[in-house]
Amino acid sequence: MTVSSSSGRISDGIHTRVLEPLYAEVLRRNPGETEFHQAAREVLETLGPVFADRPELVDARIVERLCEPERQLIFRVPWLDDRGRTQINRGFRVEFNSALGPYKGGLRFHPSVNLGIVKFLGFEQIFKNALTGMPIGGGKGGSDFDPKNRSDNEIMRFCQSFMLELYRHLGEYTDVPAGDIGVGSREVGYLFGQYRRITNRHESGVLTGKGLNWGGAQARTEATGYGCVMFTAEMLRARGLELEGKRVSISGSGNVAIYAAEKAQQLGATVISCSDSSGYIVDDKGVDLELLKQLKEVERGRISEYVERRGPHARFVSGSSVWEVPCDVALPCATQNELDEDDAVTLVRNGVIAVAEGANMPATPEAVRVLQEAGVAFAPGKAANAGGVATSALEMQQNASRDSWTFAYTEQRLSEIMRHIHDSSHRTAERYGQPGNYVVGANIAGFEIVADAMLAQGLI
Ligand code: GLU
Repeated sequence: MTVSSSSGRISDGIHTRVLEPLYAEVLRRNPGETEFHQAAREVLETLGPVFADRPELVDARIVERLCEPERQLIFRVPWLDDRGRTQINRGFRVEFNSALGPYKGGLRFHPSVNLGIVKFLGFEQIFKNALTGMPIGGGKGGSDFDPKNRSDNEIMRFCQSFMLELYRHLGEYTDVPAGDIGVGSREVGYLFGQYRRITNRHESGVLTGKGLNWGGAQARTEATGYGCVMFTAEMLRARGLELEGKRVSISGSGNVAIYAAEKAQQLGATVISCSDSSGYIVDDKGVDLELLKQLKEVERGRISEYVERRGPHARFVSGSSVWEVPCDVALPCATQNELDEDDAVTLVRNGVIAVAEGANMPATPEAVRVLQEAGVAFAPGKAANAGGVATSALEMQQNASRDSWTFAYTEQRLSEIMRHIHDSSHRTAERYGQPGNYVVGANIAGFEIVADAMLAQGLI
C-alpha cells in the first residue's frame, strides 16, 4: 500500500521522496501492527504540504522520530481468579512522546489489546493532546485482560497486580494514565489505591478520572461525549446549520456514547439509537438516558434489556449495524474500525450531514473517503474526542494547585477548548487549501505544535 498524495502538485515530490519511504519503514519496523500502520498512514498522507513549506522538519527527521515511541513497556500481569486459579495477562504502556508534557493517555482493558493497538492509540494521542493546547505528551497502555463477567474482587486483584509493575514508570511529571475501554472510575480507584500504597505518596496528579472526593474533576466523566457533541455543533455552525432538531444515531453505550447522547439532547437533538456488541436499539421518542445509565453504568447489562423496560416504541435489532438507521448526524462512539465503507454508503444514502468520531479511529479510511467525497462534515477522533483528555489536563491542573472547580466552570473550559480545536483545525485546513477538511486540519495543526517543540528541544 502506498501513501497517496491528498495535497496536490506542490507536495507530490515530497510524497515520493520522503513520505513513501517513511511509511515503508514504519511497515518494516512494526510488522503485523495493522492498526498502527493505519493510524500512521492517515497522518503521513496529510503532511506533504507542511514538508513542502518547511524543509527543516524533513532535515531534522521529525516524523521518523514521531513514529518511534520514546519507550515501550510490556510486562506480565499474574493474578488469582475467584476460584483460586492462576491467570496471566499481558500489560502494556507505550510512552510515545513527551515533548509537550508528561506522557498522557488512557489504559484499555479488552481481549483485543496488543502492541499494535496500543501504538495506534498512543500515536493518535500525541496529536490529539497537542490540539487541546494543554501541556501533555502522548502515551497509551492497557492489557488483554477481559473484564467481562469478572467479579469486583477479580477486577481489583487484576488492577493491583497491573499497578505493581506499572507504578515504577509513572509520576505526575512522567506519565499520567487514565481510563479508556474497560477502565472507568472503579478501575482508576483500584489503580490509584495500589499506587498510593506502594509509593506512600498521595500523588493526585498521577492518574486522572479519579473519584470526585479524592482528587477527581467535575465533568471528567461527561467530557469525551460532551466534547464530541460540542465539536459537532461547531462544525454544523461553520456550515450555517444547527444541531437542534436533528436526529442523532450513536454507536456504543459506554461512557462516551452515554454522555454524547446527553449533550445532544441538551442541545435539542433527538438521539434515536445506540448499540453494544450484541446489536442496536432504536427509540423513536428519543433514548431514555436515565434508563440507559441504569442499565449500562449500574447494572452493566445488555442493551436488549432497554427495550424490555422501555415499551413498544423501542425495538432491538440483533447482530447488524446501527448505521442502517436513517439519521442526520452519526456519532461512532464504540471502537476502532466499526464504521466501514458500506456503512458510510448507507449513511450517505440516508442523508447524513455530519459524522464525528467519539471513539478513536472508528471510521475506516475507505469510509472517511466516501463521507468526504459526498460532502458530509467529518470530524476525526483526534479533534472530536479530545474533550476527555483535555479535561484530564484540567484535572491535573486542579491537582497541582490543590483546588477543585465547579461543574459549570469546568464545562465552560471544556467548551472553550473544543471551540479552539475546531477553529484551529478549520483554519489550518483553509491555510493548506483544503477548506472543510478536518482530517487535514487536525493532523497538520497537531503535528506543527509537536514538531516545533521537538525542533526547539534538539535531537532527543
Ligand atoms: N482514553 C481517552 C482518550 O482516548 C482519555 C485519555 C486521558 O484522559 O488521559 O483520549
